Amino acid sequence: MTDSLKLKLEKLRTRYVSSLPGKIRKISILAKQIRTKKWTVKKRNSFINLIHRMAGSGETFGEKELSEAASKFERLCRETLTDNGPVSPLFENELQYFLKKMKEIAFRAGNKECRDPGEETKEQTFTPDPIEEKQVYFFLEKKIGSLREDQFKHYGYTLMKCSCISELLNNKPTAHQIILIFDIQTLQKEQDSLQRIAKLSQDEKGINIVVISDDDTLNKRLLAARGGADIFIAFPFDVPSLINKLNLISQNKGSDPYHILIVDDDVEYVAWCSYTLQQEGMITSVISKPETVFSQLIETRPELILMDWHMPEYSGFDLACVIRQQESFISIPIVFLTSESDPKKRMKAMRIGVDDFLLKPISSEYLVEAVKIRAERYRTLRFYMERDSLTGLYNHSKIIEFLSTELSRAKRHKTTLSFAMIDIDFFKLVNDTYGHLNGDKVLKDLANLFKERLRKDDLMGRYGGEEFAIIFPNTEAHAVVNVLDEIRKSFAHIIHQADKRSFSVTFSAGVVASTYCKDAQTIIQTSDIALYKAKSRGRNKIILLDSPL
Ligand code: GH3
Ligand code: MG
Ligand code: MG
Repeated sequence: MTDSLKLKLEKLRTRYVSSLPGKIRKISILAKQIRTKKWTVKKRNSFINLIHRMAGSGETFGEKELSEAASKFERLCRETLTDNGPVSPLFENELQYFLKKMKEIAFRAGNKECRDPGEETKEQTFTPDPIEEKQVYFFLEKKIGSLREDQFKHYGYTLMKCSCISELLNNKPTAHQIILIFDIQTLQKEQDSLQRIAKLSQDEKGINIVVISDDDTLNKRLLAARGGADIFIAFPFDVPSLINKLNLISQNKGSDPYHILIVDDDVEYVAWCSYTLQQEGMITSVISKPETVFSQLIETRPELILMDWHMPEYSGFDLACVIRQQESFISIPIVFLTSESDPKKRMKAMRIGVDDFLLKPISSEYLVEAVKIRAERYRTLRFYMERDSLTGLYNHSKIIEFLSTELSRAKRHKTTLSFAMIDIDFFKLVNDTYGHLNGDKVLKDLANLFKERLRKDDLMGRYGGEEFAIIFPNTEAHAVVNVLDEIRKSFAHIIHQADKRSFSVTFSAGVVASTYCKDAQTIIQTSDIALYKAKSRGRNKIILLDSPL
């Protein structure tokens, strides 16, 4: 290891140790909200991410004990902490043990390392976690067409009006907020308006700019692009489809951290890369043995692979070739971190689908930006490739792929996976009576209900027309029946509106557990049989098949 890298790592370690008290506070603050009304899915995920990062960074800096405690606690949280709070009686004990471990290590290490008074004061001015902020959305009111403010409220978006760019800038929009611009041409009357808006989106990372236009011309699209717009939408459109797009961009740039896989045999370099990316809120996994690359790709679903070119047993080039041979991994960005500057070798790598080369030595700022930009783009592309456009759930082929990978994972970890096939009752009748568009609305409502009620780790897909498939990893079938039955009751109570008429709809479901099914095909067949039983026994029912076929 070079002296400069050693120095860098030492500095990082000092910063890491002195950041521990702040992290303990963040975790404690969130933990206090667990049994209160303030507890949400988002907070649950942030809580787990904080612990996940402790698991990753602890070991990097020689705090193995902390890493182990964090990993163990993370597993418990993933399995038993819901958006309604913990379901395991072990939770409280484990939380206290984990916090105690963190405090011990911070104290122990802090005695030796926390000498920098600057860092100490920084800890004390603990700023609340960004997830505490209520998202506020701005728009430049020039024209709002048929859109009404209260329609946005219904979806949890608060609009703040600004009549010009200066007013908007005075409001100091921050990350995760969206600026809706209505009629970009009128806006242009204010001097340098496009440049000012574009600069804002560059300076304040995570701001999203959406241009809404009353017509779709190249000129308007160019103006929007010059203003740094992420999305251009032209009339006519309805509010739900706009909201879907807003949800999508805020999902991409927002809360969920990017997951980066690092393949490198140089332990110190890996430590530096991981830590640098983790400090920017990303999750990193590391592979030092290339044999494990496929299992890691399946397990962690990374959004970018950062790879070393020269490794002792396999070259990065060979490994990239092998990854690209697999259909599921064909689009994950692969970026080489290398000192290799031979253009011929680079060309050869680009031909097999390597996306980019970052030349070593690289500054931490550049590494972070380069990785973020590509991961963000991949996340957007992946969303369109894997999702059903009407409901935003996974599409047919993705859910089938997940079923196979999750089944292998369940077998490896000796856990049970449950699967549900859901079909709306008499849906043809809904279409025939209220029209196809109202039928579509029902499909979206049910998808939203699943998203609201199920856990983040449950994989929800639109299997076909009015059929949904849901994978529940690490869950017994009886628990699935209970939760689906609650959703069934709620769905049956929803009053759908179609012009001046109102109606309600029900669904039936077949549930199976992996225990009796040897492969994905058997699971699907068995759940289909269970679903058929639910239909033939009168519909609006959940049927569990809990014995071999
Ligand atoms: P059952 O209770 O037996 O499931 O009866 P059903 O009428 O729901 O079943 P059937 O399979 O006869 O009809 C399914 C209907 O779903 C027919 C099709 O037009 C409708 N459908 C499929 N995809 C869509 C879609 O994307 N939007 C809308 N609105 N309807 C769809
Ligand atoms: Mg059907
Ligand atoms: Mg049906």
